[in-house]
Amino acid sequence: MYQEPKLKRYCCQCGEPFMARRKSAIYCSPACRVAAFRTAQNARAKPKVRSKKKQPTEVEIPELVTCIGCDTQMWLYKHNKQRLYCSSACKQRAYRARKDRGVNVWGMYHAHS
Ligand SMILES: [Zn+2]
Ligand SMILES: [Zn+2]
Repeated sequence: MYQEPKLKRYCCQCGEPFMARRKSAIYCSPACRVAAFRTAQNARAKPKVRSKKKQPTEVEIPELVTCIGCDTQMWLYKHNKQRLYCSSACKQRAYRARKDRGVNVWGMYHAHS
């Protein structure tokens, strides 16, 4: 009976010697293979946290919001949170309209900041 020669290898993850059943085996156990895979993923994800400064290249996903003055739909970016109206003209108009009714337009938004 022919027996496949077993290969003595050193695990690429933990460094322990093991008998490889396959030529392609580089880890002693599935657990080590998974651990090595995670390490590689972490290493790839790391360069993202190199700076605390705001990255201008960072992709910002806008939110579809409705102008509270005229119900026009528009895209709102997070850095532009104050934007509640589609235009300054709309803002002025809405402000005056609410002022006439004696409603404090800004009171309800100040709670957020
Ligand atoms: Zn191992
Ligand atoms: Zn508007």
